[in-house]
Amino acid sequence: MHYTLDRSNVIFEMSKANKPVLTLKSGDTITMETEDCFGHRITSEDQRVDEQFDFSHVNPATGPIYVEGASPGDCLLVTIDKIELDSQGVIETAPGWGVLGKEVKEARTTIAVIQDSTVDFHGLSFTARPMIGVIGTAPSTGAVGCSTPGQHGGNLDTREITEGSVVYLPVFVPGALVAIGDVHALMGDGESCGTGVECRATVTIALELAKGQDLSGPLVQDSSGLYVLFSSDTLENAVRGSLDRAVSLISAERELTWVESYMIASVACDVKISQLVNPLITARTFIPKSLLSSTKGFSSSGP
Ligand code: CA
Ligand code: ZN
Repeated sequence: MHYTLDRSNVIFEMSKANKPVLTLKSGDTITMETEDCFGHRITSEDQRVDEQFDFSHVNPATGPIYVEGASPGDCLLVTIDKIELDSQGVIETAPGWGVLGKEVKEARTTIAVIQDSTVDFHGLSFTARPMIGVIGTAPSTGAVGCSTPGQHGGNLDTREITEGSVVYLPVFVPGALVAIGDVHALMGDGESCGTGVECRATVTIALELAKGQDLSGPLVQDSSGLYVLFSSDTLENAVRGSLDRAVSLISAERELTWVESYMIASVACDVKISQLVNPLITARTFIPKSLLSSTKGFSSSGP
């Protein structure tokens, strides 16, 4: 079955307390509208994130969707079929934001025009690279704000979460309660000033349930291989966590010792920064397809 969901159905935190807005079965597809990270409250260059701006309502995510039969210990595969961008996006920075926020004296808004897969602003033209910033399931206990990434996914801000990719998310609560938002027309690794080109979008995904494939955190697969994501309080801890998961995965896939896999990761896997600006930092380790034991990669043999 194919479903649709409009952007009036949003949550601001991932939690099992949220009431699902729709129930899907494994194999179903859905086209969902997503809101931009500011809830469309900044649409011109004279609007900024000033003292009046309400930060309790940022990064809205459309959903949550209940997946029939999903139970804790399962894995949810989200295939991203299509990301259609709005015609306008916003880039924002403010004092204290991002890596060099000390240098920023006042909030600043830039509006970008998005047309025919190009993003134009300040007289510059870039090829759009649409990606999903927020994608996650509900955590086992409590609530995690949609601005924060973690084991459940959330604000991962990872460029490879794009058309054609499959995002693997752990299921912690019955029904998984998946939600998606915060599309970027363009973003560089790191998201240095605090935002990408933030825009509304229409996203089409397929959901598939892998029963009993327990996952320790999000993975992203594309045609070139697998990205192992980890979020933590510092860049060093994020890198360490990501690499540790990647080494364990190679070891399981290839039936090699941990040390052998560690050495392989050192010569064949790239450790990259996803984002440096959210409440937790996200790093990813790329495992090329050639290191995975089958063309379907990780999904055929389990984590
Ligand atoms: Ca984001
Ligand atoms: Zn964003």
